[in-house]
Amino acid sequence: MRLAHIKLAGFKSFVDPTHIPLPGQLVGIVGPNGCGKSNIIDAVRWVLGESRASALRGETMQDVIFNGSSERKPVSRASVELVFDNSLGKAGGQWSQYAEISVKRVIERNGESSYFINNIHVRRRDVQDIFLGTGLGARPYAIIEQGMISRIIEAKPEELRVFLEEAAGVSKYRERRRETELR
Ligand code: ATP
Ligand code: MG
Repeated sequence: MRLAHIKLAGFKSFVDPTHIPLPGQLVGIVGPNGCGKSNIIDAVRWVLGESRASALRGETMQDVIFNGSSERKPVSRASVELVFDNSLGKAGGQWSQYAEISVKRVIERNGESSYFINNIHVRRRDVQDIFLGTGLGARPYAIIEQGMISRIIEAKPEELRVFLEEAAGVSKYRERRRETELR
């Protein structure tokens, strides 16, 4: 699966609807300090299901909503849509047949968060199902942030196993087994 487009509105500094096309295999995002480069990565991780506000550099999840500037009033909701090219059919679950998969997350000021796949309202775990075993997901190792290399080097054996299982593609089976045992 290749991330082909990011569409944001009301998310952090991207108050107006913004379309970021990601053509080709290698894309660099450059710009002066504070222009919103990291906010774009935060947007991707947020849609993939990140539930820790601190991991998105906020105190509460509502902090991802544009909170106003000297010229603009705050807005009431944030939305981010990721459009994936799935022409190789690597997506998990019932969506694997679609050549293009849109995954969207919306949050309102009251904290209500909703997820959509190809514009159909779904649960957070439906979104996670698509990415299980692909290296993406709520805590993706495909996104290497500052400090992460040393976290892997210094990880406890149990933490390391989580990375290895995701890389080997077995995490989806472990997740299924856990669910079966809970039933
Ligand atoms: P650097 O090069 O320093 O890493 P950057 O391009 O990664 O900078 P970001 O961290 O993405 O910059 O963007 C920071 C900007 O986003 C700040 O100006 C901050 O005020 C703004 N910002 C973050 N959250 C919000 C929000 N909820 N509402 C409005 N603006 C926000
Ligand atoms: Mg940055």
